[in-house]
Amino acid sequence: MTGKIVVISAPSGAGKTSIAREILRRNPTLRFSVSATTRPMRIGEREGKDYFFLAPDEFRKRVAAGEFVEWEEIYGNYYGTLQAEVDAALVQGRHLLFDVDVKGALSIKCKYQQALLIFISPPSAAVLEERLRARLTEDATMLARRLERVPMELAQAPQFDRCVVNDVLERAVTEVQEIVEQHLQKS
Ligand code: 5GP
Repeated sequence: MTGKIVVISAPSGAGKTSIAREILRRNPTLRFSVSATTRPMRIGEREGKDYFFLAPDEFRKRVAAGEFVEWEEIYGNYYGTLQAEVDAALVQGRHLLFDVDVKGALSIKCKYQQALLIFISPPSAAVLEERLRARLTEDATMLARRLERVPMELAQAPQFDRCVVNDVLERAVTEVQEIVEQHLQKS
């Protein structure tokens, strides 16, 4: 049996990371796909668990060597999915959960048509902005960069298999959980 792919994507601030964490907790057969990035490690993050943290030169070298399923430059840093990581999991029959940006999600779908793409949408653009402003980690420049990308991100929603509105976290998690369970049970 080969593993299945679930991709969760959303505009920054829509709450996809909280949802992804809870989905992983509820589905022991689902494993988080660890991406590579050039952004600095945040407090509490671990190498190989949250990301593989690479220097920009190393990242570019691996892009040139064709090691990525997809990669994007987001907010001035590179992020990418390593082909070797995906292959190893799928061959072992493990299911993978991806937390990637909207463009990355669509690239994954191009390579793996059987992947399930879930778009997490904020209840409104205003709520999204409010949530982003409330995040203490964002400085003004970063906040502006994230807000700038939102219209492009929201415009990709129709290309996803499913769209879930994150109005109330617990409700959204329940909805995503049902969608994921259905997908994993498919033969
Ligand atoms: P953060 O820096 O907050 O961890 O992530 C910033 C954005 O990069 C998020 O939207 C996250 O989902 C996305 N991201 C993380 N890993 C990847 C990846 O491998 N590929 C792509 N395209 N986006 C990623």
